[in-house]
Amino acid sequence: MLVEVAVAAAVRGTFTYRVPTELAREVSLGQRVAVPFGRSRRATGYVVGFPTAPTAGFELRDVVEVLDAEPPFTPKLVELIRWAEEYYLVPPGELLRAALPPGLNARGGEAGPERRGVEYAAPAPGAAEAVQRLARAPARRALLEYLLARGRIPVEELRAAFPRGRAALTGLARKGLVLLDQETPVARAGVLAGERVDAPVLAPSQAAALGELVPALGRFAPFLLHGITGSGKTEVYLNLIAAARAAGKGALVLVPEIALTPQLSGRFRARFGDDVALMHSGLSGAERHAEWTRLRRGGAHICVGVRSAIFAPVPDLAVIVVDEEHDPSFKQDDGPAYHARDLAVVRARIEDAVLVLGSATPSLETLENTTRGRYRRLTLPTRIDDRPLPEVHLVDLSRLRRGGHEVGPGLVSPELADALLTTLAAGQQSILFLNRRGYQTLVICEACGAEARCTECSVSLTHHARRGVLICHTCGHTERMSVACPACGGVRFGVGVGTEQVEEAVRAIAPAARVARLDRDAVGSADDTAALLARFARREIDVLVGTQMVTKGHDFPGVTLVGVVLADTALALPDFRAAERTFQLLTQVAGRAGRGAEAGRVLVQTFHPTTPAIACAATHDFAAFAADELAKRRRFGFPPFTRLLAVRIEGSEEGARRAAEALAHAARPLLSAELTMLGPAPAPIERIRGRSRWQLLFRASGPPALFRVHGALARVARRPPGGASVRFDMDPHAML
Ligand SMILES: [Zn+2]
Ligand SMILES: [Zn+2]
Repeated sequence: MLVEVAVAAAVRGTFTYRVPTELAREVSLGQRVAVPFGRSRRATGYVVGFPTAPTAGFELRDVVEVLDAEPPFTPKLVELIRWAEEYYLVPPGELLRAALPPGLNARGGEAGPERRGVEYAAPAPGAAEAVQRLARAPARRALLEYLLARGRIPVEELRAAFPRGRAALTGLARKGLVLLDQETPVARAGVLAGERVDAPVLAPSQAAALGELVPALGRFAPFLLHGITGSGKTEVYLNLIAAARAAGKGALVLVPEIALTPQLSGRFRARFGDDVALMHSGLSGAERHAEWTRLRRGGAHICVGVRSAIFAPVPDLAVIVVDEEHDPSFKQDDGPAYHARDLAVVRARIEDAVLVLGSATPSLETLENTTRGRYRRLTLPTRIDDRPLPEVHLVDLSRLRRGGHEVGPGLVSPELADALLTTLAAGQQSILFLNRRGYQTLVICEACGAEARCTECSVSLTHHARRGVLICHTCGHTERMSVACPACGGVRFGVGVGTEQVEEAVRAIAPAARVARLDRDAVGSADDTAALLARFARREIDVLVGTQMVTKGHDFPGVTLVGVVLADTALALPDFRAAERTFQLLTQVAGRAGRGAEAGRVLVQTFHPTTPAIACAATHDFAAFAADELAKRRRFGFPPFTRLLAVRIEGSEEGARRAAEALAHAARPLLSAELTMLGPAPAPIERIRGRSRWQLLFRASGPPALFRVHGALARVARRPPGGASVRFDMDPHAML
């Protein structure tokens, strides 16, 4: 008996092994096996097929051991991974290894106990008064504050928000500050049969969307659910999944980042109880392993997880939801490069499942697929309870400057400062968004003009004034900030505003306000983020200044003002998606305003008020933005009208250049009007961590021409001259 094995190593292709008679009965498709590979006596591999004849010219060796009692992958998952291997040009074994939770990659590993009911946590009466006494127990305090903000919630939501919070929760329960209770599976029986608990009445547009989705169950049917911010997309997902469960089927829900939106996992657990398995990085390897096994054995039928959960073994899969389908986090850039949203389409086809791509700002690829009739488009055009979208006002910074006015420290214009003070006076909350960390983004010598730059990367250093250091945001290199120029001894000054400077400006404008900052410098972990957002939800913070971390997640009913300090930060990047990304970020952050009883307003500061990405975000006009941007993409030949393949080369200065030239040389005979090559050229960031970076970008009307290029380059890429490393990236997102 022969098996085709994908070895968990950075090699393309698969290998044939012989199965000794004593193992023959244990081997099945999707099984993990130990095999001799190369010079190593033992490597992990995955059974992906049963060839009838050995590969000519290769020595046939024996499978050493079968590693699991039951295969972790279903035959349909093996089919999905084989498709991904071909399309993304990645080693199948690496993809399989990346798909499995870490606990399963280790040898052996037993599943944890099956769950018994949903555990809930709630703040005990009088817990609010106890918060102050917990000053010296920050972990417990943060967790209690979160519970005070959220009330009684499934413990899973706490786990998502506080990955390291288990000891704190136990401690609080022991002190009687938190009440834990268990809802048994028996009490949940009604839910599993599709009966809804605490389900709100559906708005007409939600009901209409479900009227299309539910009858489609049982076959491959892709939909775009285009719902504005606050329109209740999650309720549509929950109802569709309830219908699938009532028919005995399973569901998979992909979300961008669980740590920033822990409520979502809580909502699924509250509605479907033990039937939900969670897959995210806040869980330990053993816990993810246990969840994987629960799905595989049919102990759970709904999986909620991040990108890699696209490979989760959901039984009888009938519904796949990709929430915030436009989010860049669905694209994996390190390790095997794949796009979970695009794989969701493939998996839905393999499994005959209904696919729902949900977003307020659909990606232009998805939108174009609805135009071409590949996906059906459903819309939720209004907010829940008919709350209006916030009014957006553009503040033209260049006109302010031309008029001889100072914009103000921290780029806070007089208009934005006024709005902040008015909001504070009304006892309401504000969010200020700027997608740049640090105090000043550039430090220059006024005598010789030298910029502070990273020695290892071709980027300038950001001044972090509070720590008194210059930091490279690409590699993390840190050095002390000195005013004296290291080159000439002249005086250095900083330009370019970061969140730290905005925070300082807000404190100066409103000294009495309680101000906090949310970015990767201010909060070191998911736990810190959850604690800070809980304080904001409890209205212990008046103004929250932050990077794109503030654009996601929580509903804050107290927020009536959103200020975008500078909308233009991403526009100038050499990336054809820069405008799309800007529109998405502005729409998401504006969507944080006015979600409570009070109407919200948004001030967007910009030097480019007429740029469509900004002007259309201000009028909530997705259709106008998309039409303009699609016309540009068509004119300049970018996706969704073409397909791209990036080839990324890294190495020594000489090695990377030589490899890039050798690859380009191998590709040239294939080039035509239908297949073009950009480069070879140094990447926009030419050097990271001392390694030179080059790239080639191929463009064609469809994948087949790109596969032919890959075929022509593969031999050079395996042993590039100069010892460089070469990576292929199909449908690339990162352009820098
Ligand atoms: Zn100087
Ligand atoms: Zn660096």
